Amino acid sequence: MFYDGAYDYVIAGGGTGGCVLAGRLSEDPTVSVLLLEAGGTDRNLFIHMPAGFPKLSTGPHQWGYASTPQKHGNGRRIPLRQGHVLGGGGSINSQVFTRGVAEDYDGWVTDYGCEGWSAEEVCKYFLRSESNSRLSAPHHGTQGPLGVSDLVHPHKLSAAFVQAGQEFGLPYNSDFNGAEQYGVGFYQTTTKNGRRCSAAVAYLKPARKRRNLTVRTNVIVSKVIIKNGRAVGIRALEGGSARTYSAKREVIVASGAFGSPKLLQLSGIGNPADLAAAGIGTIHPLPGVGKNLQDHCAVDVIFELTDYHSLDRLNRVSPAAIMAGLEYLALHSGPFASTVVEAGGFSYGNKDEKTPDLQFHFLPAARAEVGCPTLRPGFGATLNSYFVRPRSRGTVRVASSDPAKAPLIDPNYLADDYDVEMAIAGVQQSRQIMEQSSMAPFIRAERMGDGTPVETRDEYVNFVRSYGRTSYHPVGTCAMGTKEDSVVSPRLKVHGLEGLRVVDSSIMPRLVSSNTQAPTIMIAEKAAEMILEDALDTTSRVVAG
Ligand SMILES: Cc1cc2nc3c(=O)[nH]c(=O)nc-3n(C[C@H](O)[C@H](O)[C@H](O)COP(=O)(O)OP(=O)(O)OC[C@H]3O[C@@H](n4cnc5c(N)ncnc54)[C@H](O)[C@@H]3O)c2cc1C
Repeated sequence: MFYDGAYDYVIAGGGTGGCVLAGRLSEDPTVSVLLLEAGGTDRNLFIHMPAGFPKLSTGPHQWGYASTPQKHGNGRRIPLRQGHVLGGGGSINSQVFTRGVAEDYDGWVTDYGCEGWSAEEVCKYFLRSESNSRLSAPHHGTQGPLGVSDLVHPHKLSAAFVQAGQEFGLPYNSDFNGAEQYGVGFYQTTTKNGRRCSAAVAYLKPARKRRNLTVRTNVIVSKVIIKNGRAVGIRALEGGSARTYSAKREVIVASGAFGSPKLLQLSGIGNPADLAAAGIGTIHPLPGVGKNLQDHCAVDVIFELTDYHSLDRLNRVSPAAIMAGLEYLALHSGPFASTVVEAGGFSYGNKDEKTPDLQFHFLPAARAEVGCPTLRPGFGATLNSYFVRPRSRGTVRVASSDPAKAPLIDPNYLADDYDVEMAIAGVQQSRQIMEQSSMAPFIRAERMGDGTPVETRDEYVNFVRSYGRTSYHPVGTCAMGTKEDSVVSPRLKVHGLEGLRVVDSSIMPRLVSSNTQAPTIMIAEKAAEMILEDALDTTSRVVAG
């Protein structure tokens, strides 16, 4: 075994949370930081060109996970794409920039005891992270590393969708992260000058030249080493060799909502029964690890168009695609600067809710998500919806002591009847929006699933159970809180251990009412501040002592 040195902070996972942390912690030149990422670098045109992400849905930049057979999803094993590349999900996602509503964060405090995480308290981290090209105070930041901008050239189908949403009865909303989430409009996106702005681009790239930051890719962290109740380093596999890196101050697990519980479990931290089933001895019992998995369960409705209108006509070599490619390479504009998921909105499935409970994404394209009918390229559009506050809870369990083995992931989609009702409400509203007069000239036919009629309640129930899929927003598997099923404290320290934190989407005790990248960036911004504060505290105590 090689011994590869000691760093103040060792970060396991170079995704959204890991890149923010590496960038922020290494701003202090007196500390050394090591960032380890299982995937490769983000050098790939399809990562940085906003419209390129559908090309990354297979291949080495994603983990290729699938769920366990879904009891409430007609027994399907649902593909669960997650980033396996520097930047993590932020390098392969559709770049929609949303933050949820104040009630999400206030609920973390009132329902889970997460002191310090109210909407008012986390606002400064959202603002600190953001560099918005159009909006400013009080809801937006303009000086942060994360580029946020409007679409370069909204597609005519997206414009028609936004008008159709208004005809349906939703107000036009020019800022889903402003005073009001309700309404329909164009999404702002995590892009800058026509290029993707992931946390790897925003935070890590400017930090790479710092001598106190080491970044290693294609390294699988296989274990956190615990000695006398303290995390003192990690073991990793790199190019077939086992390596050990020690952490003088902290090990920070940032491996995402599937990877972080798996890494804790591989290290003997978790529910003893789950660990025993995988042949792993318990070092620190913590029953909540891998529990509380939540995700948005999206349902797509696909529409066949009257003509060759949609963006996926550029998905194959053609004169139009070549022209679009040249325009993008020369000017970073044109159809390839589109994030594809261009427009959307927030509505109510249950009118008694205080804030919207349904979210929509409109795509002027028909990407063949699992189970969606495939249409001739250029002739399809998609509207998907999900219930933003799902009640179903799932699990992530390590499958074996072999770190290369995928964990057993059971999102348990649609286990709660209320989630089914809300999924149906989303599909019904999708159909109603697309029937409005602004969309009418573009639509030849609705194409639902395999073509089986969806009209009666039973048919709706069967439709959402047959076609519900991940929205790529898993969270909650190393939940923050003070109750016994929580995994980390409000300072993100693993309960009962020293020198070990989790900093990524897995710490959300409850899913936010929106997409999850911006909230994860906020979490890591706040964590970096807490980590540096705690280090200062320790130093002053040592000096004073
Ligand atoms: C296809 C897709 C579309 C999405 N669309 C949007 C969107 O439009 N808007 C939005 O806001 N959010 C979106 N999201 C969600 C958003 O990207 C995630 O919420 C966010 O990236 C989560 O950050 P994270 O740090 O928790 O995990 P990740 O970003 O997944 O990072 C975890 C990292 O850890 C690495 N890792 C895991 N295990 C190990 C190990 N053992 N050793 C070393 N490294 C390890 C992984 O390879 C990964 O890079 C999308 C996600 C996906 C996958």
